[in-house]
Amino acid sequence: MIGSFTFENLPCRVVFGSGTLGSARAEVERLGGKRALVLTTPQQEAQGKSLGSALGPLYAGIFANATMHTPVDVTERALAAMKACEADCVVSLGGGSTTGLGKALALRTGINQLCIPTTYAGSEMTPIVGQTENGLKTTVRDAAILPETVIYDVDLTLTLPASLAATSGINAIAHAVEALYARDSNPVTSLMAEEGIRALARALPAIAAQTDDREARTEALYGAWLCGVCLGTVGMALHHKLCHTLGGTFDLPHAETHTIVLPHALAYNAPAVPDAMARISRAIGAADASQGLFELAKRLGAKTALRDIGMPEGGIDKAADLAVTNAYWNPRPLERGAIRDLIARAWAGEPPAFNKAAA
Ligand code: NAD
Repeated sequence: MIGSFTFENLPCRVVFGSGTLGSARAEVERLGGKRALVLTTPQQEAQGKSLGSALGPLYAGIFANATMHTPVDVTERALAAMKACEADCVVSLGGGSTTGLGKALALRTGINQLCIPTTYAGSEMTPIVGQTENGLKTTVRDAAILPETVIYDVDLTLTLPASLAATSGINAIAHAVEALYARDSNPVTSLMAEEGIRALARALPAIAAQTDDREARTEALYGAWLCGVCLGTVGMALHHKLCHTLGGTFDLPHAETHTIVLPHALAYNAPAVPDAMARISRAIGAADASQGLFELAKRLGAKTALRDIGMPEGGIDKAADLAVTNAYWNPRPLERGAIRDLIARAWAGEPPAFNKAAA
């Protein structure tokens, strides 16, 4: 049954396909840009420079030091580079870290962004940026942060190693999973969520089997876009809060943390969200949504234990304390004992707790 809801469409132009990078110059012109600063990580600098050549007279320079978790000192250096080359727009080419830097610059200057994502993180679809200073990560939501234009080019994702495609893809699935039981969920976002999960759950095993499977890469990028829209449109809950806490406190890698925690966070919420569980099960083709997501991660060869990505065992209690310290909305009330249990299972790499109520 459809009840009352509010749905806000975020204003972002999307160009999707193969070879779409070729439209970057026209898209910068469309934004009224005359001098574009290209942003990349050090690993993608060469790719950024070749994009610069394609931009021709619109290319103002490159800043190739984008860093995970958007450290404020890196943003300040990028701001200085922007001023030095008199840039009037930025073109971010890369994963969530590079997108984050473009967003941090837009937040400070109002500059237009053309974003060209090369992972499945989904950040390009959200008006949110998480920034780190003195070891603390804080999140800002502001309309100025949302990129004006996004070019999805499947060709750029072909170089994403299968292992990164797997964890980045499950990171995207996590946005859609929590969108299905968000406090402000709505039928349109839920449609995108279910379709996004379905597309990624089908594409990721095919990519793992054959990394240059173009059809699967296309479907995965399409799914990642839909999941990114979910993240930008509705509020997240326990899973995202836990990953934020774990990543920030123990300096854990972003996408891998999401991949490990998701089945456990979902199993925790399962009794409170039977409709979401049914839709996720249908989308991934599994009898139980959380067990199915755990199996998917294993099948993709992803790590399934927080201890294997650097979390100390002594951190389990600290994480459980932090998870219930700052109250936030979640479909199932936050119970420290049960949350500690889910973190302990995720730490050890055990399957998620099986929930009879959800079966
Ligand atoms: P990333 O951007 O850190 O990329 C990981 C590495 O992969 C980098 O070295 C990058 O250069 C490389 N890489 C990227 N694309 C590649 C490709 N196609 N081929 C080969 N190598 C490639 O990782 P990520 O998971 O995309 O992003 C994580 C960051 O994004 C975190 O800081 C996270 O907080 C942020 N994020 C923010 C939001 C938001 O809405 N604000 C959403 C999701 C993620």
